[in-house]
Amino acid sequence: MHYENYYTLNCIITIKYKGKNIKIRKEDFYMDGVLATTHYFSLEDSRIQYLQCVNCGVWITHDESEWVYCYDKRVNRFANTKACTKCYKTIKKEADTYLYHKKLAKGYLDELLFINTRSVINSDYETDSAFFSNYEYCYLTGIKCEGSYDKKTVHFDHFIAIDTGHVGRIIGNIYPIFYQLNLLKSNKNPFEWIKEKEICNRISQERWNKLVNYFAKCFGLTLDEYKNFVYWCYSQPRRIKDIENDGNTPSIDLWRKDKRKRKYLRLVENAKFWRS
Ligand SMILES: [Zn+2]
Repeated sequence: MHYENYYTLNCIITIKYKGKNIKIRKEDFYMDGVLATTHYFSLEDSRIQYLQCVNCGVWITHDESEWVYCYDKRVNRFANTKACTKCYKTIKKEADTYLYHKKLAKGYLDELLFINTRSVINSDYETDSAFFSNYEYCYLTGIKCEGSYDKKTVHFDHFIAIDTGHVGRIIGNIYPIFYQLNLLKSNKNPFEWIKEKEICNRISQERWNKLVNYFAKCFGLTLDEYKNFVYWCYSQPRRIKDIENDGNTPSIDLWRKDKRKRKYLRLVENAKFWRS
């Protein structure tokens, strides 16, 4: 990561860990003068990280904690955070109930995908803003955004539509687009959408090529592989239940797994053919 202006402040603090007072290093990471994150490390071994259970506040090591999506009083919102193994089960139950109710609300699919996939791809904001340089302009046409808040004329679009139940609101799938184009794109496969005469007349082919190559790069794929992945997402749509079942496995890994399975089945078929 590269930031123009960042620094860390360290100090030693005393905490109660497993009934004993121990000293650990508190590391505050600042970006442009604003505290971004705080981490706690062992003085002896900086690979050992400490944290406080989101629920009971007891100090635990990273290895003794479980990820849970729940209400975090420290940040006043629902967040992906960590709990001790004792609290984990109860919190998980509450969080599931919360998510179940949220499911009925619009935007749940978006949120669910975000939670399940965001940690996977390098979500280095700097890299992203360096590529787009200005979110006020539609990337494909150069049209400038007018209006503010919900009246903005340049929107963020999920390149692979959220309706597929894949990928979601992550770096490598989001780009600024003029709202009229966004409406026309709707939930279509972008590689099919671009073939429409009206669309390819309106957007810059050069920008399109840049965009799809950038997305491919975000996933560490060649353009052909990326296209293949996009078509796969549209051919294997997931419902909320499917995404929950797949857990934290991102779409790209599901695609890779499926590709290997297909290759294996082809080999088996070929072997059968040669034997018969
Ligand atoms: Zn706890």
